[in-house]
Amino acid sequence: MVLSKPGEPLELRDLPVPEPGPGQLRLRVRACAVCRTDLHVVDGDLQHPKLPLVVGHQIVGETDDGRRLGVPWLGWTDGTCRYCISGRENLCDRARFTGYDLDGGYAEYVVADERFCLQLPDGYGDLQVAPLLCAGLIGYRSLRLAGDAERLGLYGFGASAHIVAQVARHQGRRLFGFVRHGDEDARRFALELGCEWAGWSDERPPEELDAAIVFAPVGALVPAALAALAKGGTVVCAGIHMSDIPRFSYELLWEERAVRSVANLTRQDGAEFLELAPRVPIRTEIETFALEDANDALDRLRAGEIRGSAVLRL
Ligand SMILES: [Zn+2]
Ligand SMILES: [Zn+2]
Repeated sequence: MVLSKPGEPLELRDLPVPEPGPGQLRLRVRACAVCRTDLHVVDGDLQHPKLPLVVGHQIVGETDDGRRLGVPWLGWTDGTCRYCISGRENLCDRARFTGYDLDGGYAEYVVADERFCLQLPDGYGDLQVAPLLCAGLIGYRSLRLAGDAERLGLYGFGASAHIVAQVARHQGRRLFGFVRHGDEDARRFALELGCEWAGWSDERPPEELDAAIVFAPVGALVPAALAALAKGGTVVCAGIHMSDIPRFSYELLWEERAVRSVANLTRQDGAEFLELAPRVPIRTEIETFALEDANDALDRLRAGEIRGSAVLRL
């Protein structure tokens, strides 16, 4: 499925089977989970994608020699910039991202740099493991950047939050879920996943929070989350794109509250998280779509109608 022009639907096209370059593997795609970032690329919220482009960066594939590997968002780094040499390859100046700078997984085949492919835990099906590759990974990095917060708020209960909630509960944290005003299904979902309280995103929780992770791409949630924080708390913005953050009073930030974003992932995050997943154990809730129905999957995600994660099956 090919993106020719942002703002237009993906087109079903026959492409040549890609040939791996030096250091690359060719994988037959078995599953590719749908990420909100795909939506931002398709809708044109993110500037300068490769065009035409195959989106998708939560890829479960099989190599020509029969190994099952994951291909995540971080597709290549230079290994030499000040970020790379200080253990922050997620911030590499010249990073290339799968399904953005490089063709991704909404296709039958993909090529990927072997050094950036991830080992997948046994015991997960292809469809079930796919959402761990970004929804899970970025969620995990966000959770780490939330520090040791005991009372954790999750804003937006989509693919990422449904995985992070399980990890956070496993770590013994207390969870408070925030969903779009009036979305009863999402509120129930948050409670099922271990939130002790779930309410609307403009509500105050029954207790102050030590940290909050904002998954929904809605800037207005940042001051709302700050207002719910205890002193010294952090708001972590987990998405790659967000609508403008409305101006807010310094009082909301005062007393050592902080706002920060999370960008991309390192291979170290990938290895740690995929090793942790079966020990939690994380169970992903998925809704599957055929590859040629990728536009439907994106539409449903845009409308907030996916419970858990959408996954393309091949
Ligand atoms: Zn670099
Ligand atoms: Zn993603």
